Amino acid sequence: MKQMLNHELLQIRNLKKYYPVTTGLLSQHIGDIKAVDGISFNIKERDILGLVGESGCGKSTLGRTILRLEEPTSGEILYKGMDITKLDKKGLRELRREIQIIFQDPDASLDPRMTVGDSIGEALIIHSITDEKERMKRVAELMEQVGLEAGQASHYPHEFSGGQKQRIGIARALAINPKLIIADEPVSALDVSIQAQILNLMMDIQQEFGLAYLFIAHDLSVIKHMAHRVAVMYLGKIAELADRREFFQNPLHPYTEALLSAVPSLKPKGKERILLLGDVPSPLNPPSGCRFHPRCHRVLPICHQEEPQLVEISQGHFVACHLYN
Ligand code: ADP
Ligand code: MG
Repeated sequence: MKQMLNHELLQIRNLKKYYPVTTGLLSQHIGDIKAVDGISFNIKERDILGLVGESGCGKSTLGRTILRLEEPTSGEILYKGMDITKLDKKGLRELRREIQIIFQDPDASLDPRMTVGDSIGEALIIHSITDEKERMKRVAELMEQVGLEAGQASHYPHEFSGGQKQRIGIARALAINPKLIIADEPVSALDVSIQAQILNLMMDIQQEFGLAYLFIAHDLSVIKHMAHRVAVMYLGKIAELADRREFFQNPLHPYTEALLSAVPSLKPKGKERILLLGDVPSPLNPPSGCRFHPRCHRVLPICHQEEPQLVEISQGHFVACHLYN
């Protein structure tokens, strides 16, 4: 039992994040944007869970809710077995030593008026590493660990390229020895030529620091490069979750099939490209039954009425689709 608790770093149970929508002078509640609508998964120590899905499906909201940058509407988030939805301010501060986030836009986490050394050092001060000398030494170490020169600590963010700024973002995240990093599309804003360098850096530090990642991407080829397991999200829900090998060799959900078929290097041999019909529907008014059914190329009559549950089809391979129930 003890061992199990040690190994499961993060356990998410039926997590929901709704944004209420109101109208008129009296702010009448007319509905909810169901950005995250009942999500469950685990992340073990040193695990890399890749999370993919089209823009607007709720990936960032999920990541931010785990860190309690957004308050969850309901559900449980257990970190090392402790429910963090109930933490007070002090507890949250401690939690943020253990879980860090890297954003898509590295500028979002850097103050343009602060030297990057101070930006990295700030994280150390917040977490009570206040001795100036010790802090500067640690900043220099961190900068070198992410492939920058320690001497650049006195420079300002605008003096760095996008890739370098993302390295600084990574150094900031690493500053206080976290256990879990939520990386929210960390390379999407970078030139393709730089993306691989940053991904390789993230793989290296994952090994070196024994980190776990929730690695969010909209690009399956990035996920294939990084993840141990892959989860596909659609309109606030998990459609499929499996180990990487199984996921790419034996995709089950029609949405996964469509996503894979859209990437030439990942398209299963002998299969046609599957074009997704229309746009992602609004999370304010998700379709009835299976929320993917209006765009599905394998839709059944039942899919219009009944919502499929996420079930384990084979060891570690979960899918929410009536084709398999
Ligand atoms: P993704 O990261 O997958 O692109 P997001 O998590 O950013 O998706 O958004 C999911 C849905 O929630 C979108 O429909 C978005 O418009 C909505 N949303 C996100 N943040 C808010 C907010 N603060 N208020 C209202 N709706 C929001
Ligand atoms: Mg996002």
